[in-house]
Amino acid sequence: MQKFSNYIGAEWVSSEEYLENRNPSDITDVIGLYAQASEGQLEVAIEAAEKAQKEWAQYGLEKKYAMLMSVGEELKNRSSELGELLAREEGKTRAEGVGEVYRAGQFFTYYAAETLRQIGENADSVREGIEIDVRREPLGVIGVISPWNFPIATAAWKIAPALAFGNSVVWKPANLTPASAWSLAEIISRQEVPKGLLNLVMGSGRNVGQKLAESPKVKAISFTGSVEVGRRIAASAIKNMTKLQMEMGSKNPLVIADDAQSELAATCAVQGAFGATGQKCTASSRIIVMEKIYQEVVEKIIKATQALRVGHALDTETQIGPVVSQEQLESNIAYLKLGQEEGCELACGLEQQEHKTEGYYMRPALFLNGNNDMEINNQEMFAPIACVIKVSSYEEALEVANATSFGLVSGIITSSLARAAHFRRNSRSGCVMVNLPTAGTDYHVPFGGRGDSSYGSREQGQYAVEFYSQVKTTYTSAGKPK
Ligand code: NDP
Repeated sequence: MQKFSNYIGAEWVSSEEYLENRNPSDITDVIGLYAQASEGQLEVAIEAAEKAQKEWAQYGLEKKYAMLMSVGEELKNRSSELGELLAREEGKTRAEGVGEVYRAGQFFTYYAAETLRQIGENADSVREGIEIDVRREPLGVIGVISPWNFPIATAAWKIAPALAFGNSVVWKPANLTPASAWSLAEIISRQEVPKGLLNLVMGSGRNVGQKLAESPKVKAISFTGSVEVGRRIAASAIKNMTKLQMEMGSKNPLVIADDAQSELAATCAVQGAFGATGQKCTASSRIIVMEKIYQEVVEKIIKATQALRVGHALDTETQIGPVVSQEQLESNIAYLKLGQEEGCELACGLEQQEHKTEGYYMRPALFLNGNNDMEINNQEMFAPIACVIKVSSYEEALEVANATSFGLVSGIITSSLARAAHFRRNSRSGCVMVNLPTAGTDYHVPFGGRGDSSYGSREQGQYAVEFYSQVKTTYTSAGKPK
């Protein structure tokens, strides 16, 4: 079985401990063994990153541009091969895997261009003869902690801007999906950059991730994952005043107004709830439907959900791959039980199905007769499970949509411009979708949420500069010419 090492200080470094990476579509398929970094190795990685950052900050903009462009182009060119690997280790369909790798490439090419757009500001002082300039400088070493559900895109939208704005990176990917991470690190390892600019430290979050968050040498942490882990990271980071940015969970509402086109509403609900096996922080988990259209739309949603083809991630027929792990499957089954105990009707999701291989398969599940007080409508399940909540008016729909501790994405399906405008203004979320599924965002505009969904400044687009740089204000008195 092939062993994959960590990448520390521009060296491929083996470990005493390795972890198996298994295919959730076929648990007999082991993709490889992935090194687990020790505490000492993490320390070496952070020190290498500290040195490399000083050198990288001196590199000309065109060199930085060329490096990011090269990584981005390779990701795009190899999206078919790497997308297949991603699908094999995570369980999303091949098409979803290929799309994700291509998107990761777009983050690199986008931030390549951003290196050339680092223009500061200047001003006259309130005092005569003094000029002021305001420019951005890098922070130093950035700790990146990424999740398994978008193992390459999430990492790309953090690593690319971190490097573009002159920082170095120590990256702890999720242990469930190390192959995608290793592949990206391997591409970066072939670039002409200072030794230690990007360090890959695979290992458990509890050990490697936690120690990374605790390090006073790490100047900023960008994390995507669960709220619980986010709180733990924040508690550690604040001790060193480490800058922090966190994207966490959500319970995204999709409102279906009574003036909606029912076909469009059903399509958006099903795509938003079950795409990528529902394992998306942007998934529609609460489908809020107005009474007048309820019967017509819910029938369509159930029919479309039942028609979804669940199977091996690499089968061309498959629309919904398996869930990522045995643990996730058990948690999903427990939520199916909890929803029924709370009084919901399970319209679909328990049907038995034969599969060619043994994997963590489950059919997408839809609860009916839900209300917003139920646990299943408050806890993030991160599963192909959605709950329909019936409401009698638009005002009630908006109130239910906003009644959550989270606030990442919200959506409305409506033919009314007035309702769309009202919802956009009054929805308490970071992103709003009108006549679109809640899942599916662009890379050149800010992404993030409110409440428990996000902490710190926005990711992606030009807004990323706020997190990955710091501002310096310089006052210059030129004196009188002699
Ligand atoms: P986790 O929070 O469990 O893990 C995220 C990352 O943090 C992993 O790399 C994990 O390592 C690491 N980690 C775990 N414990 C610690 C710790 N004590 N200190 C430092 N790092 C740690 O989330 P999942 O990976 O299970 O991802 C699913 C979650 O992420 C969902 O709740 C989802 O909502 C959220 N998410 C949010 C997104 C957003 O943009 N808002 C996007 C994608 C996911 P390891 O697992 O290897 O041990």
